[in-house]
Amino acid sequence: MRIVLLGAPGSGKGTQCKSIVERYGLLHLSSGDILRKERAAGSDLGKKAQSYMDSGALVPDEIIIEMMANAIGKVPDTGFILDGFPRTVNQAAELDKSLNHSGQTIDIILNLDVNDSIILDRITGRRSCPQCGAVYHVRNLKPKNTGLCDNDGIELVQRPDDTPEVVANRLETYHEQTEPLVDYYKNKGTVFDIDANRSADEVKNEVFEMLDSLVIT
Ligand code: AMP
Repeated sequence: MRIVLLGAPGSGKGTQCKSIVERYGLLHLSSGDILRKERAAGSDLGKKAQSYMDSGALVPDEIIIEMMANAIGKVPDTGFILDGFPRTVNQAAELDKSLNHSGQTIDIILNLDVNDSIILDRITGRRSCPQCGAVYHVRNLKPKNTGLCDNDGIELVQRPDDTPEVVANRLETYHEQTEPLVDYYKNKGTVFDIDANRSADEVKNEVFEMLDSLVIT
């Protein structure tokens, strides 16, 4: 099974991916996570991506396409779920081309639909553990001890691109450059729209119901 998960920043892509991966045994490929790891490692790729990420802009297509082609090339037969990639129509077309080359296609596209006002609240309240990547929210998903990760006790941080100014830019970037992808995929086949204004559990239940019916039939 090869899945693309579409949705604005803060629509819950990372959270849903975690649940999907646990249930269906797919590999989770998050372009944002890969970029953050490259930055933490101080690689050339990480350095090139830095200024774009910090301002809420997209990293140029050629950098991302090569990075993700490498990551997808290493995936075992069990399949994958893409999170945060593709993010432009050009990236999607390049992905299709490279999959076609090896006789593969994307099987399922899930589109998490959320209002901008909910996204702003979700992202600006988000805190994460710099060590293990666990994600919390200052009101909706508090750690047991304020400001500390439940898993390892490390001090939680706000991602530099989760501040209100940068989130506004990321949302604008999403509407301008990434939202057209929904139509790109709708023209090619089935996109499953999911109302993701609801709680993570409600969204997860609908996603599981839908994926179960596709996997079993
Ligand atoms: P995310 O964690 O998915 O919100 O990604 C964080 C940042 O990484 C984005 O705001 C972009 O600057 C960059 N990024 C992640 N994925 C892509 C992509 N597919 N194309 C371009 N830039 C990306």
